[in-house]
Amino acid sequence: MRTSTKLNKFHIFILVIAGVVLSVGSSSTEAKPYVLTCEPEWRSLVQVIGGDRVKVDSATTAQQDPHFIRAKPSLIAKARRADLLVCSGAGLESGWLPLLLERASKQIQPGQVGYLIAAEHVPLIEIPELVDRSQGDVHPEGNPHVHLDPANVELIAKLVAERLSKIDPGSSEQYQKNLEIFKNRWKTSQVKWLQLAKPLNRKNVVAFHKSFSYLFRFLNIQVIGYIEKKPGIAPSASHLATVVDTVRSGAVLGVVRTPFDPSDSSEWLSQKTGKPSVILPFTVGGAPGVSDLFLLYEYSIKALLDLLPQS
Ligand SMILES: [Zn+2]
Repeated sequence: MRTSTKLNKFHIFILVIAGVVLSVGSSSTEAKPYVLTCEPEWRSLVQVIGGDRVKVDSATTAQQDPHFIRAKPSLIAKARRADLLVCSGAGLESGWLPLLLERASKQIQPGQVGYLIAAEHVPLIEIPELVDRSQGDVHPEGNPHVHLDPANVELIAKLVAERLSKIDPGSSEQYQKNLEIFKNRWKTSQVKWLQLAKPLNRKNVVAFHKSFSYLFRFLNIQVIGYIEKKPGIAPSASHLATVVDTVRSGAVLGVVRTPFDPSDSSEWLSQKTGKPSVILPFTVGGAPGVSDLFLLYEYSIKALLDLLPQS
């Protein structure tokens, strides 16, 4: 009887210890900041700055058009437990992010440390003087695809490190360290990319949508026509006829689009004019092997170089 009581006490002691160990283990996992990004490029950036100290998901994949997705219940569940939200902004997610925020955690509401919208912190280009929303222009506040300017990526990287440090002060030193490593490599890479892209300097392309405006500005490539009549607005037959004339009248390298743009009009234009068409990855995961932001820029430049006529 005595022995059995002792054993019971001993068992309870072991169970208590195991419970403490388990709860410490699980609480350290739960303590990891959970980041929800609207687009894959920001997920990739958060992974670089946060490393193994954070958990991060993206609301969209590289194959989805971030202008137009649905706020599905699984996505709402993620927004409910997020500590930090990182999105492009400038109206890019206006069709679904407000719905998501209505049901999201307090921490990621506008004005909170956990609400980080890239477009609010970087200089936007292509801000329209007059917006006619009745026509459905999806870039009413300027071009939201800011991740394709390396300077913007660096600005947001700094903010991600700042915000993560506030949310998780215990890992602040690590976030700053990761940021410095990233910034150094990012700086060297830009020199390399500009050198690589020299043959593209002042060359012309036609694009489906204004997806690559920041990249083309960085590389000094000129877009002389768009298949879309306005951002988000499908081309009419008369507009397409104008684009055909533009391509025929100028020295155009090719027709550029993202993985999620419709292929028919780009391919039609390519066949009609004899100019090659190319799909640029647009974001991380947008082409095989494009697993981070460095590879995104490198792959895009190489794909554009492939458009140059072979001498
Ligand atoms: Zn757009």
